[in-house]
Amino acid sequence: MKVLFVSAEVTPFAKVGGLADVAGSLPKALHHFGLDIRVLMPKYPSVLQVVENPSRAVDACAVPMPGWTSGCALDEALIPDSEVPIYFVEHNQYFWREGVYGPPGGAYSDNLERLSFLCRAALAVLEPLGWQPDVIHLNDWHTALIAPLVKQRRLPMATVFTAHNLGGAYQGQFPRDVAWVAGVDESDPCTSKYLTSEGINLARCGLACADKISTVSPTYAREVLDPVVGGGVSDLIRARADDVRGILNGIDYDFWNPSIDEALDEVDGYAKFDVANKEGKKRCKAALQAEMGLPIEPDTPIIAMVTRLDDQKGLDLAEAVLPRVQEVQWVILGSGALKYEAFFRDEASRSANVAVYLGFNERLAHRIYAGADLFLMPSRYEPCGLGQMIALRYGTVPVVRATGGLADTVHEGGECPNGFVFEDYTAEALQAALERALQAYRDPDTWARLVDNAMNCDFSWRASAREYIQLYEEARAHRKAALQ
Ligand code: ADP
Repeated sequence: MKVLFVSAEVTPFAKVGGLADVAGSLPKALHHFGLDIRVLMPKYPSVLQVVENPSRAVDACAVPMPGWTSGCALDEALIPDSEVPIYFVEHNQYFWREGVYGPPGGAYSDNLERLSFLCRAALAVLEPLGWQPDVIHLNDWHTALIAPLVKQRRLPMATVFTAHNLGGAYQGQFPRDVAWVAGVDESDPCTSKYLTSEGINLARCGLACADKISTVSPTYAREVLDPVVGGGVSDLIRARADDVRGILNGIDYDFWNPSIDEALDEVDGYAKFDVANKEGKKRCKAALQAEMGLPIEPDTPIIAMVTRLDDQKGLDLAEAVLPRVQEVQWVILGSGALKYEAFFRDEASRSANVAVYLGFNERLAHRIYAGADLFLMPSRYEPCGLGQMIALRYGTVPVVRATGGLADTVHEGGECPNGFVFEDYTAEALQAALERALQAYRDPDTWARLVDNAMNCDFSWRASAREYIQLYEEARAHRKAALQ
């Protein structure tokens, strides 16, 4: 089966959040199952920091836009440590910018036009490439317009739309006066599901038009049926219930691997480790304390967060609880909303036990996952969440709210407890969970068992990749029936 996987961000070429991790790792897992899968993304300046000289796959290709013709070139490389080809769509006016979606904390004003272009270019380059996929896998609203374009042009390939985040701010909503640049067919009755007198909603476009739909955990797939969680899209998810799957994300077990992680550099005092020999984790803790300017105290627990600083992530709860929890150290790595940046900056200047790095730093993220004891994700909602899975892999015990993928991956009770979980979205519930975690930390046997359980979890892609292959097959059958 041939699959084109389209994403606005792909690790390691450009990353804003978990979508990039998924786009950089799921195709590798699918390739292992024998799929001819290729990835396509825009050519941002950051691409050239990973591949200095990508080869040219297509010199020039006309890209029809609504009312004019634009053009692109296409570069090609392999995703590192894999045989998976990745194509980079070159259009300097749209993509030669520092940000993926906008400057820090903002959005580019022409995002609808640049992403409409990306979708059209993804289809236009297939002929000059001489390669036609059976399935195009669309990721989030950025790539959703491919689904109606395939239908309008009666192309044979099927489409699968994966919703990585359906929160109101992540639906790709644009006002009516600019919606023309999406170039969708207003005479198609389906268009009214996502284009109204108020504007266009591209998440709804993907949900309405793709042959099959997935979201990134079974619990989130159920949660978005509720209008309060799935605000603005739950009606469509209900209407298409037979076509929707909740498939849990995995993480790349080669990239996130404490026994070979190059970020755990001995020169800086870090060390590699695994579940059979966790000595290195102690060294990582001391090295992290030194790097972050914290007192080097092996017995003081470190609570860490590596996160976008966004309301979704439960940061108001973290703000309320941080000053209340004593005799711990905090390490925060994040960037985003200025109100949260200011809060953490102030706390760091007030307390010797709070260390904060504001910005995006992949290497430091690895070091925090390795050196911390507890990993905090008190999310308001969380479609899947990768941070908790990465933390588990590095023996850092997660404390999470029971929502979406966090509920599917972290268990406080049962046969194999691997973390601490709270239900109510309140500071009291979070504080109580943290206190349970700190109590466990103080008992070495309990803690050692928890860390072992954490490191023995398997959140690699193996199982979920199979589910995607099944979904691709179903999408092909759906498309075939629609064309008959
Ligand atoms: P989301 O996709 O909502 O941002 P996830 O938990 O699914 O949340 O994925 C977040 C990914 O982004 C993880 O790989 C995490 O390590 C990474 N990340 C988040 N913020 C930063 C940051 N400031 N620096 C480095 N990596 C970060």
